[in-house]
Amino acid sequence: MIETLPSFLAGAWQAGSGEGSTVADAVTGETLCRVSSAGLDLCSAVSHARGLGGPGLRAMTFPERSDLVKAVALALSERKQELYDLSARAGATRTDAKVDVDGGFGTALVFSSLARKGLPDGRIVVEDVAPVRFGREGIFVGRHVLTSRPGVAVQINAFNFPVWGMLEKLAPALLAGVPSIVKPATPTAYVAEHAVRIILEAEVLPPGALQLVCGSIPGLLDELGGQDLVGFTGSARTAATLRSNAAVTERSVRLTVEADSLNSSILGVDASPGTPEFDLYVDQLVAEMTTKAGQKCTAIRRAFVPRPFADAVAEAVVGRLAKVVVGAPGAEGVTMGALVGLDQRADVRAQVERLSVDSEVVFGDPDKVDVVGADPDRGAFMSPVLLRAGSDARTPHAVEAFGPVSTLMPYDDAAHVVDLVARGEGSLAASVVSHDPDFVGNVVLGVAAHHGRVLVLDRESAPESTGHGIPMPQLVHGGPGRAGGGEEEGGLRAVYHHLQRTALQGGPSVLEAIAARGSA
Ligand code: NAP
Repeated sequence: MIETLPSFLAGAWQAGSGEGSTVADAVTGETLCRVSSAGLDLCSAVSHARGLGGPGLRAMTFPERSDLVKAVALALSERKQELYDLSARAGATRTDAKVDVDGGFGTALVFSSLARKGLPDGRIVVEDVAPVRFGREGIFVGRHVLTSRPGVAVQINAFNFPVWGMLEKLAPALLAGVPSIVKPATPTAYVAEHAVRIILEAEVLPPGALQLVCGSIPGLLDELGGQDLVGFTGSARTAATLRSNAAVTERSVRLTVEADSLNSSILGVDASPGTPEFDLYVDQLVAEMTTKAGQKCTAIRRAFVPRPFADAVAEAVVGRLAKVVVGAPGAEGVTMGALVGLDQRADVRAQVERLSVDSEVVFGDPDKVDVVGADPDRGAFMSPVLLRAGSDARTPHAVEAFGPVSTLMPYDDAAHVVDLVARGEGSLAASVVSHDPDFVGNVVLGVAAHHGRVLVLDRESAPESTGHGIPMPQLVHGGPGRAGGGEEEGGLRAVYHHLQRTALQGGPSVLEAIAARGSA
């Protein structure tokens, strides 16, 4: 019998009833589990978090919470092989799985360390170390304090990063003293469920600090109010549904959205064939197209190149893509795994068809691919697909094919490429690959307002560069407009996001005494 993936609510593992959704192995097509939350009491999960998890976390100081986050990370690190094995069933190669799993616990470790160094040995953060004076005598001053919200953080994640996506939200919430209810995406909920199981079995968190719902969350948002938070990663369509929920529109639940993104990579006008930057650009584009089979929110969807170099770039990228071996994770020679499922592949194929309205496929057949170590009819395999479009094409700036798909487009000069990039209406990440400081300056300052992160890549930074597609926990991850308008990570900013900033006014000694109360 196919088992229903359990949720962990109000201190107990419990499975939903009914048929739910069936999740299949991305490689073999074999049914793995059902996912259903029908009949589960999500309301009691919220009161459990508020009544037990929150008080337990808030009783701890920031350094104590930093230790918790570290312990969570170490527990996952010790059992990472189990998560790699499960990730392979979702189509991820070992390299892909490391991006998610090691990236996940690595992110938690960074948050722990940042908190240890940057947060006080207490339970509140006091800003304005020199209080703001309002009068000549300085007997009436102001300063800001950040205190823990006595609420709950509901974290809704996308399917592509079941571990990293969870930890980048969970770590700052724990540090802020806010309990979490994690809701993974159905296609990879079994990976997230196992990660939560590992954390809970390590017995490092206070009761109620972490709960998990596998399946949909009907009515959960109805329970939320002004002290609660929702962190969402996923499609713009789901984001729009959440934005219009009364929890957000009427009760001001703090909602953060990370959504679709048509990220760009720009080859500099100086980076002709034969330069190190030309090769770096091609390497990076191929890596972004094939890592996690292109199912990365930050993957390069639009590749802009100077018009005179367009043919040379296309030729170099096609040459590299021809060497990509698609197949079962772990099979001999495989360099790219499967998409997460057949539905996802159908969606990517449909989006390639939409892109083909004004773009031409120059590499890859979206409907056919040679596969190593698996049955191509049962697994969700797809060839990398490179398209080329003119600089007046519209669809590359509007359609996100969430798979191994990218479109190459020419531009004429810095102003032109800035205009083209902006047509994406807000993205998570852009990269500028150039060794010409003037060009880099013009383009970076031109595109910065449209992005949450801009990476400059050249021969000097390349050896240490973390690459276009990897958000770093110390830096902001998010983007304006289409990308959702949210900010995650960004070091301690993510912790502050979970706290309430309150302006205090009064005499200096009273305010000093209040600040001291927040110390350990
Ligand atoms: P999705 O269909 O929007 O699902 C995202 C999450 O929302 C899932 O957990 C899903 O649960 C849940 N959900 C769906 N309907 C809901 C509702 N009415 N109320 C509450 N939760 C609901 O997106 P996806 O297909 O998983 O992810 C792919 C998309 O995410 C892509 O467009 C990609 O660009 C974007 N993405 C963005 C980032 C980023 O950081 N900006 C990162 C990764 C992915 P179920 O699965 O159970 O339906």
